[in-house]
Amino acid sequence: MSNYQPHPFHWVPAEGQRHASTDERPSGSSIYPDGIEVTTLCEQTVMASTGEMAWLWPTCPGCNAAARARAGLPPMAGAR
Ligand SMILES: [Zn+2]
Repeated sequence: MSNYQPHPFHWVPAEGQRHASTDERPSGSSIYPDGIEVTTLCEQTVMASTGEMAWLWPTCPGCNAAARARAGLPPMAGAR
């Protein structure tokens, strides 16, 4: 993991998909609390969810592409 660099966004399960957001999380919190509004990388405003099931939701394709671009990675081959 020596090449790992944190990127200024966080994953947030919301409304049936796992989105990414650059919004600040409340201090002391490693997640976005349930019900908080976050602006996502796919340019939606969504309500965050927490819990085991929420993390199993599929990754939002728009956020995935935006997150990879921010991380300096090419878009995934075959991604739509
Ligand atoms: Zn998204």
